[in-house]
Amino acid sequence: MKLTQKIKYDADRTVGFGESVARLPGCEGLPSCIQCGTCSGTCPMSIYMDLSPRQVIGLVRADFKKEALSCNTIWLCSSCYACTVQCPREIGITEIMYALKQRAIREHTFPAGFPIAILAREFTRMVTRKGRITETLLVMKLFLRANWRAALASWWLGLGLIRTGRFVLRQEQIQGHRELATMLAQTKETGEGGAP
Ligand code: SF4
Ligand code: SF4
Repeated sequence: MKLTQKIKYDADRTVGFGESVARLPGCEGLPSCIQCGTCSGTCPMSIYMDLSPRQVIGLVRADFKKEALSCNTIWLCSSCYACTVQCPREIGITEIMYALKQRAIREHTFPAGFPIAILAREFTRMVTRKGRITETLLVMKLFLRANWRAALASWWLGLGLIRTGRFVLRQEQIQGHRELATMLAQTKETGEGGAP
């Protein structure tokens, strides 16, 4: 884990960011964090994260939006809920991670070419527009957007899968997908959308 030791200034803050996160369902406990670090000590993924869960919570609460939305921590969170179970203030840390992922996708602040973020964005787009995912299309979009050279290098594999009918390019959709898209657009405007 790489500890960030840069001094932060008041001018770097996006005033109201922490409050806006704390208003979301499941994230209400954010202001009560005592920075004890139990979440970081519990998190099985923290050794791979650039900021520990404690640091992310601290940055969000203090309105450092840019740092919180551009770190890899929120994408490496595996939603195991270990931190949430152990937190002495019963803070919904996992829900906060979800909320940050949503904001990062909406504001395009995730690390460029980061596959987990791209997968989450494309998954959300597909479900929002069509009501279900088409796995083959999802994987293709992920490869093309995360590493198009690797995708091109495997063209023969894709061709073989198409020939044998195992790679279906037709987009699947549910009945009433337009109505679903309208409903989800409403939740997005009110900030009540679910996990990405
Ligand atoms: S365990 Fe809870 S109170 Fe402690 S630092 Fe993490 S979020 Fe804050
Ligand atoms: S939910 Fe995410 S942040 Fe919390 S312990 Fe699991 S991986 Fe770590």
